[in-house]
Amino acid sequence: MTIEMTAATEVTDIATRWRELDEHFGTARRRAGDDDPALLVDRSSAVVLTAPHATRHYRAGAMKAADLHTGSLTLLAGEVANVSAVVSAGARTEWDTWDERDDEFSRHLRDLSDSARMLIDIHGMGDHHGPDFCLGTGPRPGALENLAVEILRSELDAFEVVVDAPFTARPHYTVTSLAQRHLGLAGLQIEVAARWRSPHDDSAAPAASALSLALTAVEEGIRDAA
Ligand SMILES: [Zn+2]
Repeated sequence: MTIEMTAATEVTDIATRWRELDEHFGTARRRAGDDDPALLVDRSSAVVLTAPHATRHYRAGAMKAADLHTGSLTLLAGEVANVSAVVSAGARTEWDTWDERDDEFSRHLRDLSDSARMLIDIHGMGDHHGPDFCLGTGPRPGALENLAVEILRSELDAFEVVVDAPFTARPHYTVTSLAQRHLGLAGLQIEVAARWRSPHDDSAAPAASALSLALTAVEEGIRDAA
């Protein structure tokens, strides 16, 4: 499904907008029922944000809990940074490899506009890991991944940002792997600590805002490098 959303809005109140998008995402999920739909917001950008674990999802032989609020956070960051976003609103169908996965989420990723150069895949990690953000560079990082890491580290310097530890995004089932190995795109994973993922807690807004602005800078950098 393709959803209509405000394009490139000046987001003056991040926390309020995040809550609106969280409601919007919840409604989309409920409407979806048993389907495995995905939301696509196409802004013809070089960077495309993805959120594969925004709901309970199938992965490597088992159902996993959602990476809570990564759906609304990804929609929010896409809106602020004016980049495209693909957010899974249900992922209960079993799959083992990207070759065999055929649901709306994977179809959107195979069918992105020609402007796409890099997928940035948003996940949630537990607070016990320590850092605020963990960047995973995937199985085949290259120049664009290095550039994006450099920009994110500098833009997010008020936060603890780690690279490839504890999460590398190297396993074959990651979106970063799909980008780098199957789609001819660059790919990067961003794990966001749980303490920065609540749209209902205004104290999480600074990280959402900082991440969104950092992704604005990444979009500019990747577009210029293209
Ligand atoms: Zn995840």
